[in-house]
Amino acid sequence: MADLDPSEYTISELGPELKDIEDVDALQTILEAEKDGKDRQGAKTLIESRIEKFTEDEDEVDVDELDPSELSTAELGNALQDIDDAEELEVLLEAEKKGNDRDSAKRLIESRIDSVSGSGEEEEVKEEEERLSPEEKHPDLDHPTADKRHIRALDDGAYRDMWVYCETQAGGLIDVSKEMVGKSRQLMDAYNEEYDTDERVVAVLIGDDVSELSEELIGYGADVVVQYEDERLSRFRHKPYTEIFVDMARADADWREYDEPRYTIFPATNNGRDLSAQVQAELDSGLASDCSGLYIEESVISNPVKTGRPGEKKTFERVLHMKRPDFSGFEYSTILCLDNPNREFHPQGASVIPGSFDIPEVNSERDGQIITHEVDLDSDWMRVDVIEHDRLDSGVDLTDHDVIVALGRGIGDDPTLGMELGVELANTFEDAAVGVSRGIVTGSYDFAGHVEDYTSEERQIGETGQVVAPELYIAIGISGAVQHKVGMDESETIVTINTDPDARIRDFSDYFIEGDLFEVVPQLTGALKSGELDLKAAADGGSSADADANERADQTPDEMKGESDD
Ligand code: FAD
Repeated sequence: MADLDPSEYTISELGPELKDIEDVDALQTILEAEKDGKDRQGAKTLIESRIEKFTEDEDEVDVDELDPSELSTAELGNALQDIDDAEELEVLLEAEKKGNDRDSAKRLIESRIDSVSGSGEEEEVKEEEERLSPEEKHPDLDHPTADKRHIRALDDGAYRDMWVYCETQAGGLIDVSKEMVGKSRQLMDAYNEEYDTDERVVAVLIGDDVSELSEELIGYGADVVVQYEDERLSRFRHKPYTEIFVDMARADADWREYDEPRYTIFPATNNGRDLSAQVQAELDSGLASDCSGLYIEESVISNPVKTGRPGEKKTFERVLHMKRPDFSGFEYSTILCLDNPNREFHPQGASVIPGSFDIPEVNSERDGQIITHEVDLDSDWMRVDVIEHDRLDSGVDLTDHDVIVALGRGIGDDPTLGMELGVELANTFEDAAVGVSRGIVTGSYDFAGHVEDYTSEERQIGETGQVVAPELYIAIGISGAVQHKVGMDESETIVTINTDPDARIRDFSDYFIEGDLFEVVPQLTGALKSGELDLKAAADGGSSADADANERADQTPDEMKGESDD
């Protein structure tokens, strides 16, 4: 496994590839290979967290050398998890009493003593007896969720299969639906092998005339397609789509003998986001939104909310690890949806960013089962009607322009004005187009109609948008997340305007203008219009060696004017 070459995998593929490697030296070799190769921050974080995991596991606690007074309570809690001998714990308790004598530390040690000596079991029984429902505990309060069936009904529920909501547009499957089915196939193949079982990939199709897509989904890897057709569902509608999905997931049916799906996957599209949140809430579970990596493995957890007892570790099996970018894509978090001791959380659900996985090859020889779901459409669900809709004739091609002016979340203080300034700047060039970061596409900005067209997904630049390499790329209020970078860093000259001198984008900019875009962009536009500044000419000098570029990457608009005048 040490031979694994990380450059052969996308970041989302790398997680599953690393999953079986536990040897720290092998992981170090892979880390070095990544640094020497593509040097992707996301990939490095992934490998480093695995190294950390197994380095920690190798650490053994030497009780004789453990002095509680030298440890914080959190460090003590972690150290205690590896001590199973009640006598050694008593010694530690005495040391704590003689030392810092912290109540929290003493409680931790005492509860560990209880847990290793088994006296916790009695407590557990007592707790069990004393457990009352919120309605019983607080009869004076409203209980709006009291009629939810599954919170209490599923105390020891049966869960199976990975369900994938397959969105359609204009009578066809959208790409992310195929990507998700392909990924689910891979995950469940590995899962079935690991756990020696035969759980399935279940594709869910809801809409008008969708049944003709069922065979195609089987070809992409689904074992079962559950379909529901009605001409009133030709366009996505929140209420009926949710009700149907939830009914499919819960209703008694011959083709499946379990209470709820084990896992659910939705596309992180507008409709998929809308549907996923409500479906997961109705099924009394959670949702990790906007994920870009998924893998299944066991997880050892010490959080008392999940284990039921402080200072104890518990192994959860078959856990869907849902990786999603945080901090503007600079860090990845892995979200786990785990049962509590007294409450189960299934399905473990994720929505997936389009483009995160590859579209699989269709195998038209595959066999699968097609189930037509039956449920009456309640007229109450149809109270909202789509009375008009429009489809864009064609997408926007950003790849063939000399100049791209790209706007990001930095416009947040006045989004419409920010877009207007960008469009005006683009208009000063002969052949320029306006693009946006994903932060704009997914942000909930309230743009005025005349700029809204410029903010649509089809103008997104980056990993899941268009990849551009114009002569001049002007990035305004964009931080430079790796997913944006890969869509523009081949541009000949990159000019950046950002208030944050430490913004990541500075590392790959030729010119970095530190300043507020609402002040800087009008200045630039004015200087270009008056002919005082020829940014393209400045850019022509900006495409040379890196050393040059770094020197230039700290200029004010006035300094740039000076350079172009030379
Ligand atoms: P932010 O990261 O919030 O940055 C805003 C920047 O504006 C900051 O640097 C700030 O200093 C600056 N700023 C604030 N106020 C001002 C001001 N007044 N003047 C000047 N500067 C200011 N992103 C993409 O762009 N394209 C993709 O294709 C893409 N694909 C993705 C795919 C996946 C699978 C995932 C998980 C994420 C993807 N993302 C993509 C999202 C990406 O991770 C970032 O979240 C996104 O690029 C951030 O957008 P942003 O730079 O506009 O916003």
